Amino acid sequence: MRYISTRGKAPALSFSDVLLTGLAEDGGLYLPQTWPEFSQSDWRALRGLPYPELAARVMAPFTAPDIDFETLHDLCKKAYSGFSHPAIVPVTQVEDGLFVQELFHGPTLAFKDMAMQVLGQLFEHVLTQRDEHVTIVGATSGDTGSAAIEACRGRKRLSVVILHPKGRTSEVQRRQMTTVLEPNVTNLAVEGTFDDCQDLVKTLFADLSFRREMRLSAVNSINWARIAAQIPYYVHAALAFGAPEQEVSFAVPTGNFGNILAAWGARRMGLPIRHLCVGSNRNDILTRFLTANDMTIRGVTPSLSPSMDIQVSSNFERLLFELLGRDAAACASIMAGFRSTGHMDVPRESWENATALFSGLALDDSQTEAEIRALHQKSGYLADPHSAIGIAAGRRFRQPGTPMVAEATAHPAKFPDAMVAATGIHPALPPHMADLFERRERYQSVPATEDAIKTAVRTAVASCNAV
Ligand SMILES: *Cc1c(COP(=O)(O)O)cnc(C)c1O
Repeated sequence: MRYISTRGKAPALSFSDVLLTGLAEDGGLYLPQTWPEFSQSDWRALRGLPYPELAARVMAPFTAPDIDFETLHDLCKKAYSGFSHPAIVPVTQVEDGLFVQELFHGPTLAFKDMAMQVLGQLFEHVLTQRDEHVTIVGATSGDTGSAAIEACRGRKRLSVVILHPKGRTSEVQRRQMTTVLEPNVTNLAVEGTFDDCQDLVKTLFADLSFRREMRLSAVNSINWARIAAQIPYYVHAALAFGAPEQEVSFAVPTGNFGNILAAWGARRMGLPIRHLCVGSNRNDILTRFLTANDMTIRGVTPSLSPSMDIQVSSNFERLLFELLGRDAAACASIMAGFRSTGHMDVPRESWENATALFSGLALDDSQTEAEIRALHQKSGYLADPHSAIGIAAGRRFRQPGTPMVAEATAHPAKFPDAMVAATGIHPALPPHMADLFERRERYQSVPATEDAIKTAVRTAVASCNAV
């Protein structure tokens, strides 16, 4: 499989190169040159497979010919071996026709582990083949950083440097990162905001000589391999509800549009998905787009669901490219306009095609809290604020005769304050994390300057190479 950029000006790459590159050189995002399509009997053959094998079978067309099925199967088995639920992605019913698929049984208790654990394996495999070493640098407001660190810890061919805004992540989120003491992991507590952290990372990547010298690489949500690794759980749920003979719909709490884009990808591959529902918090740019073709940037307001506090959903560009009939020039020009005006001018026909499949629902914090409380009272189910928004969207758009599956993206114990406020219950951390608050932490505080970050990255890479 070759990959092309949504902006049409970057070279087509293989899977391994797309994995290591992340963002295309023309600023676009990579997509498969042609989408693999599964026949009815292909889907049926996946029924009842253990999750790691299902994942490898669904991902194999994307990794070929660089990585064959047997190797990929082996990597997927390792990736999911640290999950605490035997089903990996269990599905439970909460109401009539409304189901929840839990994606939070990985090491950091958020759905990012579903893809990041596979990415860690893929990086190690490709870098070993090439006898190379890379440095992963990323900024996090919480969940992404810990998932990246868990996926990379102790790997010989990877250094990982994660910037977080000092004092601005939750204590659980900070400790999930800073209690990882392997020498290839560096946590930088930046004296600034999340935006400062993100800008600093962009500055490092923009300095091409530094980027080459340190062999910088990224695992943020625009990395194609993350999308590819998120397609299998949609397949798993749809098969459980009788696909390919029976249709199913999904509701997804959405931030950067990566998770729900994977559902779109599953549908593009032939999985019978009827309807896709976006759940937003009060940072509702996607819901405004779907209800009124109003994709306009506004400031970000903090909410109970911080992983969805976004201004721009970067993965939306991939859907836009497809909605435009894969016209890269049109996509590049719309994205340039969006950048300069803060408003995305999506052609009416493309918008109508989007709304035929997608719907959006936004909940503010008090509605989110009310949803958590009502759901718990009626069904006994404890949903974290992100998952509760997805469940509310699923209920709103559910249609008779089509099962609606809401994706649960975080364990409620990650957001104890919101859970106590809504239900009075303080959910316990699972056994493998019960001693999180007693573990030793290690991080460096650094000023929000380019020089300080570059020095820290150099030191991290040097000390890692010395080991
Ligand atoms: C990252 C994240 C989301 C948003 O997913 P996107 O792929 O960015 O849309 C939702 N919930 C949780 C808990 C997350 O960590």
